[in-house]
Amino acid sequence: MPAPTLAAPDGRVVDYLRISITDRCNERCLYCMPEGYKGWQSRADTLTDDEIVRVARLAAGLGFRKFRVTGGEPLVRKGVVDIIGRIWELPGVEMIGLSTNGIMLEKLAAPMRQAGLTGVNVSLDALDPTIYHRVTGGDVSRVLAGIEAARAAGFERIKLNCVLMRGVNEQEIWPLVEYAAARSCPMRFIELMPLTRRDVLNESNFFPIAEMMEILRAHDELTPVEKEKEQIGNGPARYYRLKHTGALVGVIGALTEACFCERCNKMRVTADGKLRPCLGDALEFDLLPALRGGSDEDVIAVFQNALARKPLAHGFRDVYQPARPMTAIGG
Ligand code: SAM
Ligand code: SF4
Repeated sequence: MPAPTLAAPDGRVVDYLRISITDRCNERCLYCMPEGYKGWQSRADTLTDDEIVRVARLAAGLGFRKFRVTGGEPLVRKGVVDIIGRIWELPGVEMIGLSTNGIMLEKLAAPMRQAGLTGVNVSLDALDPTIYHRVTGGDVSRVLAGIEAARAAGFERIKLNCVLMRGVNEQEIWPLVEYAAARSCPMRFIELMPLTRRDVLNESNFFPIAEMMEILRAHDELTPVEKEKEQIGNGPARYYRLKHTGALVGVIGALTEACFCERCNKMRVTADGKLRPCLGDALEFDLLPALRGGSDEDVIAVFQNALARKPLAHGFRDVYQPARPMTAIGG
């Protein structure tokens, strides 16, 4: 029987599900979590391991092929290795990745690889310990140890992500590119998206991709890379190969670049069971009642409803106000 294909009404194939397994985190990134954030969801609302696997099973049955476990920080959830293993074993699942801040990666990289995890995205906003701490509140040496453990564990793909902030980490751009190139890891730079407090998201903190590219051009020659040729990933990034360093650099310009929404193949499930068809739109559909009191068909109906209402484009440029900070959505 051919695998089912799931498409939004405008024809976009949607086959990538990001599942947040917690809204909690062991860091406090300026751009993600409001200072003094107290909006933690209740334990009772958080999906159980079995509910997460059920959502993934039904999604795979509908046509989702690629899965990502995220958060908050997914590695703070006990049972993360088991959840990954159980999703990987589901029929139809072709890829399972994880997004992490890397703080707990050193211990967990090898067991997660054994459980079936195919790739890891690690947030790395600076190499300099003081700058890293200023952005995240954490200790960069633990992240770097985690990246080495992931390399040793033999992941097919380890991508590094940096959110750009003016006056905060722009001097880290080139050191990060060199660090990533030396390890053959794609390095991605992301424009600050309006997903947390207003004071962090003001104009003066915003560092556009175009300016970042000027820094790269001052050091090296850039050639655009066609995704299809290199099979780099499923996300919205555009990639460049740097001639002399050999670095592969991805850029995600959600605010200043041409809209990538026409290629969007994703939906998100929050840790409290809300299905979100678009990161840049507050629209969400509650899976919990169907998961806790309904049948598989009821859960599938929520997916179909969300798919039918998938926004054509994000609202980041339109004074979008997130109802939840990024940590409670799932990156
Ligand atoms: N804790 C994990 C981590 O840090 O990678 C996974 C969750 S985090 C919300 C996922 C991704 O979202 C990270 O790469 C982070 O840098 C990115 N992110 C968070 N807030 C953002 C914002 N306001 N603008 C752009 N990217 C953001
Ligand atoms: Fe935590 Fe990741 Fe958000 Fe940073 S970006 S606060 S590490 S969830």
